[in-house]
Amino acid sequence: MKNLELIAYAKQNALSGKNLDRASIIQLLGIPPDSPECEKLGKAARKVSSAITGDQAYLSGSIGVDFAPCSMSCEYCSMGKKWGIVQKTTQYTDEQVMEWANQYVAAGARRITLRTTEFYSPEVLGVLTAQIKKSVPGEYEVGLNMGEFDLETANRLYEYGVDYIYHTVRLGEGKNTRFTVEERLKTIQAVLDSPLQLHFCVEPIGVEHSDEEIADRIMMTIDYCATGAGCMARVPVKGTPLGALPQISERRMAQIAAVLRLAKCTGDISVHPPCELAVEWGCNSLTIEVGANPRDPEYCPDSEWKHFTAQRAKTWFQKHGYQFSNTLECRNKCVNP
Ligand code: SF4
Repeated sequence: MKNLELIAYAKQNALSGKNLDRASIIQLLGIPPDSPECEKLGKAARKVSSAITGDQAYLSGSIGVDFAPCSMSCEYCSMGKKWGIVQKTTQYTDEQVMEWANQYVAAGARRITLRTTEFYSPEVLGVLTAQIKKSVPGEYEVGLNMGEFDLETANRLYEYGVDYIYHTVRLGEGKNTRFTVEERLKTIQAVLDSPLQLHFCVEPIGVEHSDEEIADRIMMTIDYCATGAGCMARVPVKGTPLGALPQISERRMAQIAAVLRLAKCTGDISVHPPCELAVEWGCNSLTIEVGANPRDPEYCPDSEWKHFTAQRAKTWFQKHGYQFSNTLECRNKCVNP
């Protein structure tokens, strides 16, 4: 099929409630980002987004709890111990975490993610989650982006009040990280076997990744029926082994998000770092973040990363035809067998 025919087919396929096949995903990813064909791809993804989400958009708030040297030393992360960028541990107090959770919820965030380095205690995060749920009023979910864990821990986290886990198999896993794919999959399976929801992103996407590698992660997103799905660019951090490789362009980012939207026929699609063109092309979920950040050599405890605020996210959503949602109605309905 020619590219324009494939775009029309992919759009129709998603609208009829079907996920896309790997070969088609690879072909769509191969369309030059600056081409008129890519504009058509983006417009098709936006139409599909309307049908799937009812033009409801969502905001998430991420809180990087600890800024600390992490012995896993992933080759793109500012906190990798080996790179010597972060020398000492700094972390939010429980009160500060609560304060940010409060601010996020008041600003309309419906998901609050607590993010930590690999070996942060799940027990401490469980207690913190319970505290947030008790003291921050509003309709929202709390999720964790933390290290590896088993089913017993997953069940315990759910009992504490955790709603979802962000976990994924990174691009370049085992090559640019000290994790094996199997270790990541074990944790993902623990989430799937528990009552927790899984959030999964294609990340961290860099110029070093082929269309095939990206397509394989899109296929994983579909196969695991992730409630929250999205794509994230690798942000080059000076001083890390991958720090000299440039970030992918905004158009490439928006293209990958559009392909993900067409490939996965259910649920919300997020993009990070925030990218307005990706919203124009079908993303309906954005994240604001504070505190420790693997994408930044500096700790940002007092203001939103890159000054991307809830207000800015809402402006983008409105500009591109989305209603900013105050509920969590747009649920992923898995269509896989
Ligand atoms: S990405 Fe996570 S696991 Fe890897 S070094 Fe950074 S904090 Fe540690």
